Amino acid sequence: MIYVIISDVHSNMEAFNAVVEEISLLAEKKTAFLGDIVGYGPEPNESIELLRKVADFAIGGNHDWACVDLTDITYFNIYAQQAVLWTKSVLKPGNASYLKSLKPMGKWEGLTLAHGSPREPEAWHYLFSVEDAELNFSFFDTQVCFVGHSHYPINFIRSRDGRIRYNRNANIEISPGERYIINVGSIGQPRDGNPDSAFAIYDTESNLVQLKRVPYDIATTQEKMRVRGLPGYLINRLALGR
Ligand code: ZN
Repeated sequence: MIYVIISDVHSNMEAFNAVVEEISLLAEKKTAFLGDIVGYGPEPNESIELLRKVADFAIGGNHDWACVDLTDITYFNIYAQQAVLWTKSVLKPGNASYLKSLKPMGKWEGLTLAHGSPREPEAWHYLFSVEDAELNFSFFDTQVCFVGHSHYPINFIRSRDGRIRYNRNANIEISPGERYIINVGSIGQPRDGNPDSAFAIYDTESNLVQLKRVPYDIATTQEKMRVRGLPGYLINRLALGR
């Protein structure tokens, strides 16, 4: 089976459409979403509506929860807070109920999916280091766990002897006896210095995970954000990929 794993769209329809077009070329596949369909970007309703068409399974992120009052926004930076307040003001009731239904972690088709981390998923921890990853391997029981949240594609591998290493390779071979935490990166607001949308494909026949990148029309998203009065800081960072 081919699994497509997508995350952190953040209301960016130009980016989301570019990825959906790319994955439409795959004949047989199932798609899972790791959270943060809204926040930051200009088209929350459109993004939720497209997600509901393309995702076979979805979990929620801290921005999704913030927009329906399920998580506190006092720890968000000022720009993220402004985007949450704007999103809340335009969200259609049906789309708000959909966000409310999303859990922060789930198990699907033998895979663990968490927005932030499998340990305390509602605390929205970031997984940046081997130490962060080490704390998390005992909090899921599948071979592979996919995460989003940091918008930084990276993977952590636990070998048979319990040692953990990380790399940023775009191709990850899934080997028996090893376990994996794979961050698929962000579709709508990449932060690893590459502004192209990120997502992952897991082919269970060839045991290969591929971290993919797709360019999109950043200028159009930026213009839509300007029209809606979203913060300049959020507009500028898209072109920089950070
Ligand atoms: Zn996010």
